[in-house]
Amino acid sequence: MNVYDSHRIASMLNKMGFSEAKTPQKADLVILNTCHIREKAAEKVFSDLGRLKMIKDERAKNGLDTIIGVIGCVVQAEDEEICKRAPFVDFATGPLTYHRLPEILRKITKSRGTPIIDTEFPAESKFDYLPQNSSMGGSSFLAIQEGCDNFCTYCIVPYTRGIETSRSIEDVINEARTLVAGGSVEINLLGQNVNSYRGVDASGKEHDLAYLLRRLADINGLERIRYTTSYPADVNDDLIACHGEIPQLMPYLHLPVQSGSDKILKAMNRRHTRSQYLDIVARLKDARQDLQFSSDFIVGFPGESDEDFENTLDLVNKVKFCQAFSFKYSRRAGTPAAEMPNQIDENIKKERLGILQDLLASYQLKFNNDSIGQIMPVLFDIKGRNKGELIGRTPYMQNLHAEAGKEYCNKIVNVKVTGANVNSLSGILEED
Ligand code: SAH
Ligand code: SF4
Repeated sequence: MNVYDSHRIASMLNKMGFSEAKTPQKADLVILNTCHIREKAAEKVFSDLGRLKMIKDERAKNGLDTIIGVIGCVVQAEDEEICKRAPFVDFATGPLTYHRLPEILRKITKSRGTPIIDTEFPAESKFDYLPQNSSMGGSSFLAIQEGCDNFCTYCIVPYTRGIETSRSIEDVINEARTLVAGGSVEINLLGQNVNSYRGVDASGKEHDLAYLLRRLADINGLERIRYTTSYPADVNDDLIACHGEIPQLMPYLHLPVQSGSDKILKAMNRRHTRSQYLDIVARLKDARQDLQFSSDFIVGFPGESDEDFENTLDLVNKVKFCQAFSFKYSRRAGTPAAEMPNQIDENIKKERLGILQDLLASYQLKFNNDSIGQIMPVLFDIKGRNKGELIGRTPYMQNLHAEAGKEYCNKIVNVKVTGANVNSLSGILEED
């Protein structure tokens, strides 16, 4: 979501006459787009700001002015902290108000004092004010939903991104058409809780994600559709059916489970049990046999016993995720779990994370190894490290490296997979 937001901010700045500087040393304006999900990400903002202050001072010696701004969830949660620890920041806005950037930049004068702060949860939607989105290349993100009403007890998102809101069907379809016209063959629909999407059509009637997916599948030239991140309890029958019916919907689904223990899921305030999760996975697999799953896991949530952790490992052994993101529980001020007793010792968290990650990596490696010999359509969109090499994504979201000229960039090309490791594949282009 932050990559998408940054792209929209850059487009807005472009429209205002800014162009991209190659380094912060050369920039008149530097904006940090921030994440508050775990402590490490949030702390990084302050160390990065320290470095920017040095650059700002250095440039000032040469008579150059530098505007420094902070955007995103850290601002929403820690605006006072920013004023206290980094008073040289010129402005700071939450993730829902960055469309006001032109107005904010106009307010910044040479003789500025304290940062301009905007942490309002605005009545208007930023999407109604931003300039039209532009393609990000062969694959583009498209935010359709924002915010979360689930209030998992560990999570800061509902406090920083606000309550769930959805963009209208027409708004999303128009943006998708623009992206495809700009060269995107893949669109990844985004939302903190994307499958809780409820967008209105022109007549004011509300529709869900399944309806939107079917409408998007009608767009000529849109060859791949993905959506992320889904909340298991909000996967409905029609969404499951879509996976069997819409060929453009890629056979890879990120479906975070967090834990394999019912006791912990309850303490997390997740609205699904372990068996409900496994049932959803099974029904999705029934709809599309080659569907693969990735997930998010938190280890060391308050009160997690060895047995709870074993249940998580057991769930991994059942689903055999082809990719996963796993984290040590991070205490976020203001969330219920931060106040819970039986916080888990840091060393135990570390140990459990190591065990879980080894297990996840073994399934990921096995899945990648099983791809060897297959011919897969790969969407190339990044230059590789070596000259003449491109990196792309298989339908299962595996990174694949191949020798390919730049004429293949942003295109879907058949590739024979010849090598694999945990994090990527390599392959050879099939002649057509
Ligand atoms: N809405 C999505 C996830 C958004 S946050 C969902 O519910 O699945 C992305 C991931 O960050 C979460 O899935 C969770 O695994 C992790 N996360 C969130 N808060 C965390 C915390 N306090 N400590 C560790 N990991 C956390
Ligand atoms: Fe956070 Fe996701 Fe839970 Fe919402 S559903 S509170 S975003 S983890």
